Amino acid sequence: MDFRLSEEQELVKSNMREFALKYVEPVAVELDETARYPREIIAKLAEGGWMGMPFPTQYGGQGTEYLTYALAVEELSRSCAATGFTMSVHTSLALMPIFNFGTDDQKKTFLTPLAKGEKIGAFALTEPGAGTDVGAAVSTAVLDGDEYVLNGTKTFCSNGPVADTYVTFAWTDKSAGPKGLTCFIVPRDTPGLKVGAHMMKMGIRASQTSDIIFKDCRVPKANVLGGEGSGMKIAMNCFDHGRIGIAAQSIGIIQAALDESVSYSKQRVQFSKPISKNQAVQWWLVDMATDLSACRFLTYHAAWLKDQGQAFTKEASMAKLFCAEAAMKHTIKAVQVHGGLGYIKGVKVERLMRDAKITEIYEGSSEAQRMVIGGNILR
Ligand SMILES: Cc1cc2nc3c(=O)[nH]c(=O)nc-3n(C[C@H](O)[C@H](O)[C@H](O)COP(=O)(O)OP(=O)(O)OC[C@H]3O[C@@H](n4cnc5c(N)ncnc54)[C@H](O)[C@@H]3O)c2cc1C
Repeated sequence: MDFRLSEEQELVKSNMREFALKYVEPVAVELDETARYPREIIAKLAEGGWMGMPFPTQYGGQGTEYLTYALAVEELSRSCAATGFTMSVHTSLALMPIFNFGTDDQKKTFLTPLAKGEKIGAFALTEPGAGTDVGAAVSTAVLDGDEYVLNGTKTFCSNGPVADTYVTFAWTDKSAGPKGLTCFIVPRDTPGLKVGAHMMKMGIRASQTSDIIFKDCRVPKANVLGGEGSGMKIAMNCFDHGRIGIAAQSIGIIQAALDESVSYSKQRVQFSKPISKNQAVQWWLVDMATDLSACRFLTYHAAWLKDQGQAFTKEASMAKLFCAEAAMKHTIKAVQVHGGLGYIKGVKVERLMRDAKITEIYEGSSEAQRMVIGGNILR
């Protein structure tokens, strides 16, 4: 067993830290306040090859390991969790299914411009009546000649307002149970696809979120991903990958909370000494640092399993569950370390606490992760 990151991984981590400090940290407060899409940062990420890291160079990627990509999400999220998530949802949920289940033609046509960051991807699965219960979706796709006609409304689609390519899901045969759900690649300019308004959020405010509405939207048969009826399998596979991304995002948030808390507690003087001299405050920091370490072990292990070609569903869920709950718990504590200042807009820990909450909800809530882990250990 070797716990060291490779030279390449260390380099990627420090390069992304440098990038985030230079381009992201200075605008992170403004991005949060205005809920603006960081178009110029995404363009710079694309330029640097960060938008398609784990895909082969032949499809526009960088050919890195998945763990290396997770490290980049972590470092980016440390400065801005919304920007980290934009990269993560694009990579793990939109590009990964095309890479894993697409034909060579689909990879050339769709994956390559996405992996180069020339285009942005989104994943539209959730519907107003189908969140945790994916099977309750009602969107349909009916074959008509060489095209499927899609009807339905997807909600909470991250990158929805800015994406060029959507990976979405609809029933081609509801009577077939989970095997009746089919996955489609739908370009934004397809007639019948409508993008809803950007939804304002509590946290990760610069991440763009909207409904995606399909009304008699005609999608060529050639855009079916993985064959008719593979939708549920693809969706679950996407979540396995995405959950490592969210765990990494949570680690970035906790690292930032720890950095801010250590620094503030050493400089804030009350009762004639820095508040860090109080054991109660030290123990908050100790618990933060200890959980942060545990988060890294769980997440890097899940990513390593994926890189070894081994099963990693349970481990990805464990990492996501533990990291998300740790992020919420410790960002609340980081606000406490800062006292009244921690409650003020523009102070980083205030944003971190709001950003942390979503990690317990999306790509499967903490309860959904417990269902996945329970299903795995009880079978
Ligand atoms: C900011 C944001 C971005 C998102 N991005 C995307 C995206 O890009 N693409 C996409 O498809 N979706 C996206 N989602 C949707 C997200 O994945 C869902 O919100 C999430 O899966 C939960 O579904 P729900 O909101 O319908 O909650 P519900 O399923 O209605 O659940 C409500 C609560 O009940 C709990 N619950 C439900 N069932 C059970 C059960 N059986 N046992 C115990 N507890 C249960 C849940 O854990 C939750 O706490 C996003 C959501 C948000 C808020």
